[in-house]
Amino acid sequence: MDSQKFTDFGFIEPISHALRDIEYTVPTPVQIRAIPPLLAGRDLLGCAQTGTGKTAAFALPIIQHLAKNPRKPERGVVRSLILTPTRELAAQIHQNLKMYTRYLKMSTVVVYGGVGQGPQVKSLGQGVDILVATPGRLLDLIGQGYIKLHSVEIFVLDEADRMLDMGFIPDVRRILGYVPKKRQTMFLSATMPPKVVQLAKTMVHDPVRVDVTPERPVVEFIEQRLMMVEVRQKTTVLVNILKDPGASRALVFTRTKHGANKLVRLLGRAGISATGIHGNKTQSARQKAMDDFKAGRIRVLVATDIAARGIDVEGITHVINHDIPNIAETYVHRIGRTARAGCRGISISLCSPEEQSFIRDIEKLIRQPIPVVSEIPYMSRVELKAEEEMPRTAKPHSRKPRSQQSQGPRGRSSQGGRGDRSGRSNRGDRDGRNKQGDRDRQRDGGNRGW
Ligand code: AMP
Repeated sequence: MDSQKFTDFGFIEPISHALRDIEYTVPTPVQIRAIPPLLAGRDLLGCAQTGTGKTAAFALPIIQHLAKNPRKPERGVVRSLILTPTRELAAQIHQNLKMYTRYLKMSTVVVYGGVGQGPQVKSLGQGVDILVATPGRLLDLIGQGYIKLHSVEIFVLDEADRMLDMGFIPDVRRILGYVPKKRQTMFLSATMPPKVVQLAKTMVHDPVRVDVTPERPVVEFIEQRLMMVEVRQKTTVLVNILKDPGASRALVFTRTKHGANKLVRLLGRAGISATGIHGNKTQSARQKAMDDFKAGRIRVLVATDIAARGIDVEGITHVINHDIPNIAETYVHRIGRTARAGCRGISISLCSPEEQSFIRDIEKLIRQPIPVVSEIPYMSRVELKAEEEMPRTAKPHSRKPRSQQSQGPRGRSSQGGRGDRSGRSNRGDRDGRNKQGDRDRQRDGGNRGW
């Protein structure tokens, strides 16, 4: 199984040619397990995160099926539909489809909200082989009669857990109402809490189950560090982290759009040019920010979780949590943006006293404590004189002693691991705010006597 190659799958030559161009030679585990049953027409229930190669795992069998069974769909009629929660992810999947279908005559179209619908409607042209869509815009265009789903042969729901978080499930159900019951369904999710499993059961039929979520869902190459700092010191510490020449491509996470904007301004004042990416920005501004970041024209991207979902940029050296996420899985998604493709990466989380309870949840999930450091862990090993450089003294606060805390990297026993966290499944608005989480945090903080 390990020595499997793409050539073993029996893809038609135009697909194989494209794969050779982009140097996909060895399939990833999700591809090894999902592609053969998908080529055989089975449904899929896949638990896989971005970065595992899941896009090719579902896209290549779709392309093979459509190419082997050519049909010219009428105007507005769609043969296969890929639903994703965010525009970034939709655009990224569409980019991949373009690469995989470059030697085929196949129409691939992407539609999402936040931009004018005119060009999208135009691109629908004479029927669509593969449509990638976010739910809201898709329903709009169905309502206006531009898109017809009655001939969909293959339906993909990507990032189902995020769809649930973002409140899109009623929309997804409405969309499914337009899709024929007799179809192939591919259901993918980064996590599989019970609500997602329930949803999956209503959509897939006798699926092949593929779970490539690692037992320990943290990439081994990522150095994780925790710095205990007061809220008012966070920006100062961040500025110093970003002064590290080794921080050549840094992704900084904030919890809110407003926080992202403010941070971009503050970094600018400190002489660090950064750009923000979040849901209030126009799609073209978001795309420009992404392009500039990918091309290395900007070094620092400040993002909210939803906007960053699906971002796949090579060579991110640093993921910095300016705010600690109140959902533990979000931490895993965030830090997984670095140390891709075997590169080294570091994640630094700036934790205020109020955020300690979130860290506790994260450590339970990843089943290890995150090492606490008081000095900035510079990648380049160029030591900055922190005291001189910092505009204000940023003396890290110490962490409260905790009975279970251990110094060793794997010193803590498993405490539930990736168990059902659906008790906290009210994951709040599109920027990851969670009022219940805020209340929990305050309560926790209060109990700890901060
Ligand atoms: P995904 O999980 O689909 O977002 O894919 C993550 C990244 O891995 C993307 O940049 C893909 O182009 C790349 N990728 C996917 N499969 C392979 C493969 N078998 N070999 C090399 N790169 C791949």
